[in-house]
Amino acid sequence: MTMQYPDWIWHNGRIKPWAEATTHVMSHALHYGSSVFEGIRSYETPNGPAIFRLTDHNRRLFASAKIYEMAMPYSLEQINAACREVIKANGLTRAYLRPLAYRGLGGFGLSAETPTDVAVAAWKMGAYLGDGVLEEGIDACVSSWQRFAPNTIPAGAKAGGNYLSGQLVAREARRLGFGEGIALASTGLLSEGAGENLFLVFDGALHTTPVSAALLNGITRNTLMTLARDAGIPVIERDIPREYLYLCDELFMCGTAAEITPIRSVDGRPVGTGKPGPLTRRMQELFFGLFDGRTPDRYGWLEYVG
Ligand code: PMP
Repeated sequence: MTMQYPDWIWHNGRIKPWAEATTHVMSHALHYGSSVFEGIRSYETPNGPAIFRLTDHNRRLFASAKIYEMAMPYSLEQINAACREVIKANGLTRAYLRPLAYRGLGGFGLSAETPTDVAVAAWKMGAYLGDGVLEEGIDACVSSWQRFAPNTIPAGAKAGGNYLSGQLVAREARRLGFGEGIALASTGLLSEGAGENLFLVFDGALHTTPVSAALLNGITRNTLMTLARDAGIPVIERDIPREYLYLCDELFMCGTAAEITPIRSVDGRPVGTGKPGPLTRRMQELFFGLFDGRTPDRYGWLEYVG
């Protein structure tokens, strides 16, 4: 995906020109993957631009930093304010935000006490997995790469290093001509997509894999579980073996970037009718309805840019 760089970025406490947000080549994070980050979307709403679940995302940023004992030099409120500031500075409405905290320059070695540098970027972004995928769906494959075992790298942290695994899964899928790859956990059971959680539909109920399946506890996943339960749609969190990908009535991926992307086939086998199904459509309506007012914002998830 090509990216059109915006003019401004927030870096270490202030808005600066995009090109000036640089770091030294000896920064810890570049060598050891020691960064934590978030992906957040803002949407145009009838009450102006809003950042979706801004506080929940940045809470997860702090949780990821806590897992890695990374001292955060700013408060949650300051990072939230930085997100709003960078949207405003670039005149954005529908955008993707990327808060990032990383071990910078200072000392040498794995346990070096480096300073934590923090940046927040935001730019215009459409559908992550390609034009038209939200309507038509994608063809997915099960990756030959597994997710890391739970006692190796914590999947519950959204850390830069985790995305070496994601890159292997996503790159293999694209090379083989698929829209996205799905990974199994080290148990052999289903985990998640390269950068998305999974929902399978059986008999009108949503089934999703549990956090013990080496996945990131997605905020979109939580959003959909909440919206479904509120609408009386059963939601079941459970271990799921691979072959159920081939047997479910409907299948979709979800994430901040991917939003709700239907999956029309897995490993060459059609999912259900081979077209996005009715519950997938319903979940898209409920989700996107949050931004045009069709779905009431009962939980204060829309945090207005102001
Ligand atoms: N799993 C992985 C590995 C991800 O990178 C993402 C995207 N952040 C997700 C799941 C979905 O999480 P969320 O809905 O919070 O964006």
